Amino acid sequence: MMNRAVKSGPRLVVERDAASSPSPGLERLSSVGTVRRRPILSVDGVTVDFDGFRAINNLTLELDDGELRCIIGPNGAGKTTLMDVITGKTKATEGGVYLAGIDLGRLSEYQIARLGIGRKFQRPTVFGGHTVFENLELAMKSGKGVWTTLFGRMSKSEKEEIERVLSIIHLIDRRHERAGLLSHGHKQWLEIGMLLVQRPKVLLVDEPVAGMTHEEVQRTADLLISLSGEHTLVVVEHDMEFVRKIARKVTVLHEGSVLAEGPMDQIQDDPKVRQVYLGT
Ligand code: ADP
Ligand code: MG
Repeated sequence: MMNRAVKSGPRLVVERDAASSPSPGLERLSSVGTVRRRPILSVDGVTVDFDGFRAINNLTLELDDGELRCIIGPNGAGKTTLMDVITGKTKATEGGVYLAGIDLGRLSEYQIARLGIGRKFQRPTVFGGHTVFENLELAMKSGKGVWTTLFGRMSKSEKEEIERVLSIIHLIDRRHERAGLLSHGHKQWLEIGMLLVQRPKVLLVDEPVAGMTHEEVQRTADLLISLSGEHTLVVVEHDMEFVRKIARKVTVLHEGSVLAEGPMDQIQDDPKVRQVYLGT
């Protein structure tokens, strides 16, 4: 605790103390202002040991409410394992993960998702035989039970919510198209939309622009930027062009730990980063 606090400077010490005070409950989180500067998500001294191999090594990371954080690092740095720990797919061997002060350590993947952490995997997993609109409808109802999913009627506000998301993801004109016929890029946006209708606080996005056209990459950059503020985003991406487009604060992982953290220009000039990551 002490050396982490020294490393991250006095400002974060205050935030950390605020985060470890009794949990405010997620409802109060949405009442803007009171919690803006406290970390919405804290990864606190996490180690993940796979039979003696440390994929994550005493990693500490804090995300402010509404920020857009890029996570980069060479292959094997631990990026995917970090996402797995945050979402509860993999449990930490040591340390803890906290959402607004709530310890996620004892919760299942499903419970963590319900608390407001959404994850988009690299490969889109839309229902190809259903329309774009139906995909969003199904995603919205998921978790509400089979009966509601099959027979529940949508309220006016739910329909409006789907329309709102359709316009955010640039698919308003394609709402009646079968999802299976969409381009790869449009499928990726639809999948982001399927997360958005579940109103997550934190969105984890793994390599969102892999395989996209140049124009789609630009629109995805705009899309992710527009989602920050209301949502907290963690974007893992290899495409450095893309990272430069969207990056505010960048965290560089190396061998399961944070190698460097800061604005993109500072990261690019960091000799440690150049050595292990950029290879120069
Ligand atoms: P990245 O996503 O940054 O490329 P990963 O998180 O996938 O890195 O992997 C980090 C390291 O942990 C790698 O060396 C990988 O081989 C290892 N690893 C990941 N998952 C497992 C597992 N289930 N068992 C053993 N080793 C694993
Ligand atoms: Mg990976």
